[in-house]
Amino acid sequence: MRILVVEDEPTLATQLVEGIQSAGYVVDVAHNGVDGHFMGETEPYDAIVLDIGLPQMDGITVLKKWRAAGRTLPVLILTARDTWREKVAGIDAGADDYLTKPFHMEELLARLRALIRRAGGHASTELVCGPLTLDTRSSRASVDGTALTLTSHEYRVLAYLMHHPGEIVSRAELTEHIYAQDFDRDSNTVEVFIARLRKKLPPGLIETVRGLGYRLNKAQ
Ligand code: CA
Repeated sequence: MRILVVEDEPTLATQLVEGIQSAGYVVDVAHNGVDGHFMGETEPYDAIVLDIGLPQMDGITVLKKWRAAGRTLPVLILTARDTWREKVAGIDAGADDYLTKPFHMEELLARLRALIRRAGGHASTELVCGPLTLDTRSSRASVDGTALTLTSHEYRVLAYLMHHPGEIVSRAELTEHIYAQDFDRDSNTVEVFIARLRKKLPPGLIETVRGLGYRLNKAQ
């Protein structure tokens, strides 16, 4: 899953990127409202963390523009302390959740998990597909209760498929959701990750849909 962080304060931006990355996500960062708006409009993020007080274009305006353009992805806004009006304006502008600064990274990660879960229609922090379980809190996967040892890329591929069970996911889509923007992307490497995952998973769980992509087989 791929997250955009829009935060102008350098130290906090770095903490957010590192904290969210450590939870198994890939992260892009923008340091002002104009860049943030552009990235959120043009790249397929799974969720966005958006500061309200931003240079060049404030967060409320950024959010309103995304929503006006039909972008429905989950957005968590960051507000300054004692600014209840910001929260009201943010929620009215289309925010799905908010956090007041300062906050604990664990709380931010829990709220992000909940937003991504709800956006995909999943009720639990544990995603289950046949014998396969993905615990989004610990970023671990297991088969029949036995933990799998996965590289970070293998985990990202599997997590994206687990969030979209039964759906055909193209290589291009997988590539966009497992790499950050500045990464030199090569959709051929997705095939390599899929091949490695298949060796660790029960046969038939990841299907190849010829010419279209991959599908996590829900029927198992
Ligand atoms: Ca700010």
